[in-house]
Amino acid sequence: MALLVQKFGGSSVSDVDAIRRVAQRVVAARRAGDDVAVVVSAMGDTTDDLLDLATQVSPKGPPERELDMLLTAGERISMALLAMAIQDLGTPARSFTGQQAGMRTDSSHGRARLLDVTPSRVAATLARGEVAIVAGFQGVSEDEDVTTLGRGGSDTTAVALAAALNADVCEIYTDVDGLYTADPRIVPSASRVTRITIEETLEMAAHGAKILHLRAVEYARRFGVPLHVRSSFSDQEGTWILVDRPLTGTLHPDGTARHTAPSPTSEDPMEDPLISGIAHDKSLAKITVVGVPDRPGAAAKVIGAVSTAGVSIDMIVQNVSTSPDGLSDISFTLPEVDGTVAVAAVRELQHELGIADVLYTSHVGKLSLIGAGLRSNPAVAQRMFGALAEAGINIEMISTSEIRISVITDQEALEAAVRAVHSAFRLDAEAEAVVYGGTGR
Ligand code: ADP
Ligand code: ASP
Ligand code: MG
Repeated sequence: MALLVQKFGGSSVSDVDAIRRVAQRVVAARRAGDDVAVVVSAMGDTTDDLLDLATQVSPKGPPERELDMLLTAGERISMALLAMAIQDLGTPARSFTGQQAGMRTDSSHGRARLLDVTPSRVAATLARGEVAIVAGFQGVSEDEDVTTLGRGGSDTTAVALAAALNADVCEIYTDVDGLYTADPRIVPSASRVTRITIEETLEMAAHGAKILHLRAVEYARRFGVPLHVRSSFSDQEGTWILVDRPLTGTLHPDGTARHTAPSPTSEDPMEDPLISGIAHDKSLAKITVVGVPDRPGAAAKVIGAVSTAGVSIDMIVQNVSTSPDGLSDISFTLPEVDGTVAVAAVRELQHELGIADVLYTSHVGKLSLIGAGLRSNPAVAQRMFGALAEAGINIEMISTSEIRISVITDQEALEAAVRAVHSAFRLDAEAEAVVYGGTGR
């Protein structure tokens, strides 16, 4: 008997039929003898709809505390409906809010971080042989205020619950059959990855592959939680994300085709493909600070001002000054939503540093190629840049890590860029990937 944590995303619980289908899956796992704790997201696009409502009543910007109170209602609806649907099938089930499930967070509304997870009521429910359902993406602060973990945060709830319960696996059920070599909504010929290391998954999530919340992957790495990403619309095996802990037990929930999870040491890494996938991010902007004095401390001031304004900077490029006036340009990318704040922060320094101009480009795209040992293989960069050149796509910035090469392009050209690089590395599958649901919003 295994202990499973099953997380169902919004598209998996988008309407009554979907909720009943999820209930059947949960009940099948329970009947097969496994203990099941479930984490649910809000139905369909509920969170976006609630956000729209909030901005309508509060065009100046909704207060954070009330916004969290509002958004957590979405997950309460789905958890209660799922508990009812499971009970309707004759299996006892109980739902819990984040607070009831012991998800204690700091008080940063909208992006709260988990401080402590003590799911004693969940554990007691499982011990009675019942199914426990926990509302995703929410917790409670030290001041007893309701908080949210940030968009996509139900994945993090699920991994945190799996770690606290010492579950055998955390299954992330979504609207595609696993992690693909690129977003199948953009590259229909993307191939499903059967297994991938947690480090590569971290890079994919950090650079825009929204299939997994970045913090969920970080948490899984830290606590050694094995992840299985798969579709709630099919019975196909999905993608196993390998952590440094051998997996045990037979984990397939339907009780028919039971698989033992692959162990990270059972594969010869020499056989693994070099490239694991391409992530893309369409939500970026770029700031170029023109004519920065080329002296120690100037870059620190510019970047420091933006960081102090609470904006996280992604890629930074400074071109060394060759002109006799000793000036240089600094360009960096940042989330598009933070554009106004960041430009204002840099403009404040304009006088003090004698900066010539601050240029802002919205709608910037980033493509990241991810795979083990990329940096030590120069042919990879050559092939990637060649494919972009052949497709007529201009590269604006480049950055590399041990296992990633990222380029900044115009946002309009990004999807074509992803497809060009995907084919250049022969990642295309013969069959088209199935996208079962969701609006991709
Ligand atoms: P959920 O509502 O289940 O949390 P999300 O919408 O957050 O689902 O994540 C699933 C979506 O992630 C897919 O529909 C797909 O469009 C997108 N996605 C982006 N990159 C990838 C990738 N490399 N592999 C699979 N899906 C991806
Ligand atoms: N419902 C929340 C969102 O849409 C959390 C989640 O689905 O993970 O972001
Ligand atoms: Mg998600």
